[in-house]
This record gives sequence, structure tokens and C-alpha cells, in this order.
Amino acid sequence: MATYLNKKILPHEFTGIPGSHGIAIGHAYVYDPSNFWIEERNIPADEIENEKNRFTDAIEKVTKDIKELKYKIETRVDEENARIFDPHIMLLHDPEVLKETNSLIESGKSAEFSFFRTTRKIIKAYKQTDDEYLRERIVDIRDIVRRVYVKLIGKDHQLFSDIDEPVIVVAPILTPSDTANMHSGKIKAFVTDSGGITSHATILARALGIPAVLSVKDASTGIHQGDLVIVDGENGKVYVNPSEDTIEKIHAEQKQLIKYRKALMELKDIPAKTIDGKRINLYANIEFYDEINAVLSNGAEGIGLFRSEFHYLINDTPPEEHDLFTSYFKVAEKLAPHPVVIRTFDLGGDKISHIIPSKPEDNPYLGWRAIRLSLSLRDLFKVQLRAIVRASSLRNVNILFPMISGIDELEKTLKILDEVKEEIKNEGTDYDPDLPVGVMIEVPSAAMIADHLAKRVDFFSIGTNDLVQYTVAVDRANDRIADLFDPFHPGVLRLIKRSVDAAHNAGIPVAVCGEMGGDPLATLLLIGFGMNSLSMIPSYIPSIKRIIRSFTIEQAQNLANKALEMETGIQVKKLIFDEFKKMNFESYLSL
Ligand code: PEP
Ligand code: MG
Repeated sequence: MATYLNKKILPHEFTGIPGSHGIAIGHAYVYDPSNFWIEERNIPADEIENEKNRFTDAIEKVTKDIKELKYKIETRVDEENARIFDPHIMLLHDPEVLKETNSLIESGKSAEFSFFRTTRKIIKAYKQTDDEYLRERIVDIRDIVRRVYVKLIGKDHQLFSDIDEPVIVVAPILTPSDTANMHSGKIKAFVTDSGGITSHATILARALGIPAVLSVKDASTGIHQGDLVIVDGENGKVYVNPSEDTIEKIHAEQKQLIKYRKALMELKDIPAKTIDGKRINLYANIEFYDEINAVLSNGAEGIGLFRSEFHYLINDTPPEEHDLFTSYFKVAEKLAPHPVVIRTFDLGGDKISHIIPSKPEDNPYLGWRAIRLSLSLRDLFKVQLRAIVRASSLRNVNILFPMISGIDELEKTLKILDEVKEEIKNEGTDYDPDLPVGVMIEVPSAAMIADHLAKRVDFFSIGTNDLVQYTVAVDRANDRIADLFDPFHPGVLRLIKRSVDAAHNAGIPVAVCGEMGGDPLATLLLIGFGMNSLSMIPSYIPSIKRIIRSFTIEQAQNLANKALEMETGIQVKKLIFDEFKKMNFESYLSL
């Protein structure tokens, strides 16, 4: 934090998108993994020989790691995907690269710097070519340099796990795998230059209760290491090196907020029922086992969405069936007899897993993602299905398939699930033969054929994050078009209503598990459409319950019917605000 002390400190303020509730104050930790830089370091002449040996040793160790990784992918995924590591291995043994690095070491430079400088030249050259294949290799080169660096220095260049005191993370953008490391308790809040409110990193921050402000232009260059920062996730404000007055004001707001939340918690054990007795199930969305306490303490009646990507994001190798089973079983056991909906891995899009090497795609959200990826990596998929089916022995597990876009895809998926169930049955292992199977309605084509899908499954869960993205054609993580990301768009509402009707006509229940499920402004609409359950970040449950308990289902239905006739999202929101105003309810909207 020395830079902080040497810098001229001027208070300034940034405004962004409020991404996750809460207010935090702390020192900035500027995190930019893409800007990987190794400082020049000289070594004494009598250490040159040793330095060359250290370099050779590091290259051998990294080669061994990569070969092991390749083997695991070969055996657990397939050979074709494993070949993605071939360029890594070639680079590690490129005679020119080794020669140049060694001659730099001989000139008195450290091994890590010599290798970094040599490879930077290649990166520079690749950047200037029109050859897409070579440009894609830049990521591989950076990966190799980083791995060699770790072997030489003994730790990674810049990682969340390096953080040893609570800080405010400031970054250009955070990936889901970055945030997967956030639950160390060392991250007080984060601020990013870009990102949208339904990007996966942001959802994770909300789940972990980490305040966040997104889309703060130039935050990662305008805020410096060690600056004192206040992140106000309620109002989307970031105060850098604030005055005493601002700090005092923020402390007072923090106190108010805590008091208000405490009052809400009194609703924990009361059912979510409208004034006229319509019961709605309120479930929790989770990603980690650690969130179970929040699920229980906020009074969730089950888990409506257990996102299962975590195991695939934090590890370098595919997870073992046993580890997956243990993780699912532990959650199901803790919640029993309440339901736990486990969604099969939804990788791709912005959730890039190192264990599934793939080529960069021009349109990742429209590409090799979710069920599409699962169906083509059948062995990897079957490992997860086996773990889920085995965990169903507790009779409270449900399985949910992401991003189903058509019948053919669903039938292929159900066939694999049947094969897995048959295998487990033949092994004599207990499982739930009636394991409920659901599909996510998050692609417009699925909503349009919801009647056909409903005949083949036991429940629907509407993923509004993707449904909005694909219906309005707006990248959910792109802050430049964040204002177009509107769950209240009448086009989206009509698809939701259509899906609810199709589910009910087929006699199956329907839930919302996207962020809209926890948005107080959407509650009346969704229950008015006939939603049976809403699933959300655990801490949102009490405020949504309060809304449900303050209105009649008739009021909600009238509102929902009117909303379907509106021409714009703004009109829909005004309609809801007016309804809240009539009931003197506005103050709850900001919760
Ligand atoms: C959704 O799309 O609404 C959803 C719940 O899934 P995810 O956010 O994980 O894509
Ligand atoms: Mg989704």
C-alpha cells in the first residue's frame, strides 16, 4: 500500500450501476490479471549458472503439469479437446525461445524476466498478424509464462488468494472464476470498469453479500492501489479518498441499513402468503455449500437453483464423481425434506472453464454453452448426472437442464439421464426413480414451444437473465447497452406468461430463478402471472415475502393483466410504482 502514501490524494467520486447491495469502506486492491507484467530483475554473475538451471527445472515442471492436464482431459473429456495443449508444449520446447531466454539470463537478468521478455516479442509479433490462429495463441503464451513464473517464484503473479487483509477490489472486469475465489472473506466489495447486473460475477457477488458497483468508467485506472474507497452498492456510488464528512454520512447510512434488514428478518418463519391466502414458495439460489447458512437464516423453503459450475471453474482438472456427489448430497441432506434443484453445469458464455479447452468464439452466449456443451462432452456430463442421481436417494433432489432450445435437445438429454439411472439401478445403488426433471425456460424458442416441452418434464424454471438477453438481443454483461436489458419489456413479459400458461395447462409447476425472481418491482407481476415459486439470493427472501404478504392475489392478477397490454417497459414499471404508491409501499422498493 506504499503507493498510497506517496500519492497526492484528491477526493473524487464515481458513479456506476449498483450491482450488489451493501456499503463497504476499505483500501483499494487494483486487480488486472490481463495486464501481466514481470519486473526486470538483475542477478549477480556468480548466480547465472544456477539461474539457468532454475529455468530449465521450471520448464520441465510446467511441461509435466501440462502433460498431466492433457492426459486428464484425454481420459475424462476426449482426445480432440486434449490437443488444445499441444501449442503449450511446443512453446515450452521451442529451441529459439529457450536459446534467447538463456542468453538473456547469461547477460545477468533473472529467469522469469528473461522468459517474459522473450515471449513478449512473440506476443507482439502475433498481435500484428492477420492470422487468427496465431492471435488466439497469445492466451496460451501468457498462460505458459504465468505457469513458469509460478514455478520460479513459488506463487502466482496476482491472485485473490494473495490478498491477506480485507480490501476493496477494483478491476477492469471480473470473470466468474475470479469471483469464485471471492468467498475468502477478504473481499469487502468490488468495483469494475464494465459488467452488467446479471453477469455471473455480479450474481455471485450478490450471493456472497459482497457490495458491488459496476460499469464505473476508468475505475481501474483512476483508483490506485491503497486508495481509501467507499463502495455504496445501494446507490451505485464510489467515493475515493473521501472527506471526513462523507465518511460520517456513509457510516450513518450503513447503520440505518443494518437496522432495516434486522426488522425484515422478523418475517423469517412466516409463510409467503397473500392477504387472501395464495401461497407462494420462496426458494434460494446458491452456488456454494457455504451459502447454506444464509439459506436457512433467511427462511428459504428449499433451493430453487443450485448453480453447479463452481467445481468446473476453480479447478484445472475435471471434478471426480465422488466430489460432486458429496457436494450435492451435503446440500440435499441439510435441506431435507425441502426440495433442492440442481442445475447441470452451464459452462460457456462468460463462464470459461480451464478444464474444457475451447477456441474463443465470436458470439459465446450464442455458442457452445450449457446443454449444448454437455451433450457434446457426454462423458463429462455423465459424471455429473451420476452424482446428481446418486444424491437423489434423499428423495428431495430435482434436476434442471439449462438453455434447452428445442425438443430434440431435450430428448437427447433425457435419454442420457435414463441411461445413467439404468446404470445406477444395475449397480444396486439407491436413487429416486421419480427424480423430478425440469427445464429452464431461458431461450425464446423454448418459451414459444413451452406446451410441447411441458409434456415431457415435471417442472419449468424461468431463467429471466438469459430470457431477457436472448429476447431483447442484449448481451447481459455489456454495460454499454445495460439500459436495454429490461426484464419488464412487454416482449419478455408475454413469453413469461406464455410459459406459465403452458406449464399449468400440462399440470406442472413453474418458478422464476433469474434475478427477476428477487426483484421487488417484479414480485406482483410474477405472482399475478401465476408463478408457483420464486427463487432468489437468500438475503432477498424477507423483502419479497413482505410484498407478497401485503397484497391480494387479485391485485397482482389485475396488475399483471394490465402489464401485458403495455407498450414499453417504462409503462409497466410506472404501473407497478402506481400500485405501490396506492398502498403506500414505495419505501420497500429499494430493498
Ligand atoms: C438465468 O438465465 O436467468 C439463470 C437463472 O441462469 P444463469 O444466470 O446462471 O444463466
Ligand atoms: Mg441462464
